[in-house]
Amino acid sequence: MVAAAVLSCLCLGSGVAVAGDGWGQPKPGSDGAGDSYYPQDGNGGYDVADYNLKVGYDPASHQLTGNQNIAARATQSLSSFNLDLHGLTVDSVRVDRRAAAFSRSGDHELVITPSRSLRRGQNFTVEIAYHGVPAPISDPSLGNNGWQYTKAGGAFVAGEPKSATTWYPVNDTPLDKATFHLAFTVPDVWGVIANGRERGTFKGNGGTTHVWAEETPIAPYMTTVAVDKWTFDRRTRADGTPIVSAFAPGVPDSAKQAEARLPEILDFLESKFGKYPIDAAGGIFLNEEIGFSLETMSRPIYSAGWAGTIPVIVHENAHQWYGDSVAVQHWRDVCLNECFASYAEWLWDEAKEGVDLNTEYADAVKKAPTKFWNGKLYGMGPGNEFSYVYSKGPLMLHALRNYIGQHAFDFVLKTWPTLRRDGNASMQDFQRYTEFVAHRSLKGFFDAWVYGAGRPADQYLFPGGLKP
Ligand SMILES: [Zn+2]
Repeated sequence: MVAAAVLSCLCLGSGVAVAGDGWGQPKPGSDGAGDSYYPQDGNGGYDVADYNLKVGYDPASHQLTGNQNIAARATQSLSSFNLDLHGLTVDSVRVDRRAAAFSRSGDHELVITPSRSLRRGQNFTVEIAYHGVPAPISDPSLGNNGWQYTKAGGAFVAGEPKSATTWYPVNDTPLDKATFHLAFTVPDVWGVIANGRERGTFKGNGGTTHVWAEETPIAPYMTTVAVDKWTFDRRTRADGTPIVSAFAPGVPDSAKQAEARLPEILDFLESKFGKYPIDAAGGIFLNEEIGFSLETMSRPIYSAGWAGTIPVIVHENAHQWYGDSVAVQHWRDVCLNECFASYAEWLWDEAKEGVDLNTEYADAVKKAPTKFWNGKLYGMGPGNEFSYVYSKGPLMLHALRNYIGQHAFDFVLKTWPTLRRDGNASMQDFQRYTEFVAHRSLKGFFDAWVYGAGRPADQYLFPGGLKP
């Protein structure tokens, strides 16, 4: 994305090229962003800068009415381009305020043909009016993703590798981050929480409109909205960053007590990972068992089942650095999210609970069956992304800490998120950076622990102070 943007700027600066002369003949944008597991997710040919989304939603009928306004830039000359939208009915599309032709194809493709083709480097807007009853995407291994309903009559959005496409037209790939502005109207008795900062509420249009703004570029699957009869808790961090958390009716006090430690948790994570990379914080506490919690940006969403909530809060907030601010390049790189967020729980236990991590590591290695070592931390295949990253992932990072030494490891953990802030990264990028910091090749280590399967040789399994 960076390379494409730089190239566009150079072309614009030259001021001499015209359509058909160096800009390339307008062609349809790709209908996928090329992920190795989910090649049809997202699209090519443009880069979204901002989503400005207005939604009206009626919890009683589940009817949603949306008006999406996208600001984007063409990264190639486009005769047509795609957005992603799962279900829902599109009523009209305008590109640069002119009516555009559109059609639907496949599982989620919205194909838009502007009345005039778009030149490479051109900024353009897309306005889409749509409506319908949103529904989640059911995946046999990953469960329900996207827009979901609560038993109490509310709704929320959570899921990966994609979820945004279930409620708004979007370029649904982690490679295309954008700012996200949401005005969400519900009947007055309902409350709304979403990503970023609160920008106020106003009455009218048959309800109350709740305005939220995420100004940190966000991957679409990290956007969320949740509708319920919330109790809000509002505070600020010492540096003024607003913390807004919302608790659904029936959420026990233990969850509120755990959430009260969020400033301490963010301070701790900041001491390990560098400055908090988002300009808002908080959490969304559902009274609904959804089988997972998710690191939705600035405001993780938590499933019911609150026992031991602190490790989950540590985990989801660690993702704000590892997963949100620095997102995956491909889904095969998901260890860059989950191995690190899981190891953050270890670091918390070490610092706050006095846990000896070398002992914890030795016990885990001793107990691990053969099957465990054959689980993969990279290239695990679609549907298996989350099978081993939570268990084998923190062991790998603890071994890496002992292999390259405490000082180099601390430095990598703390500087990598700043280096890659608001961007994407692959496991190979991370390996190269760690090698740079450690002044040595780590090919053997990464082959043994990350790219390969099987129990690592002792030199990688028991480096430094780790004894068999
Ligand atoms: Zn996670």
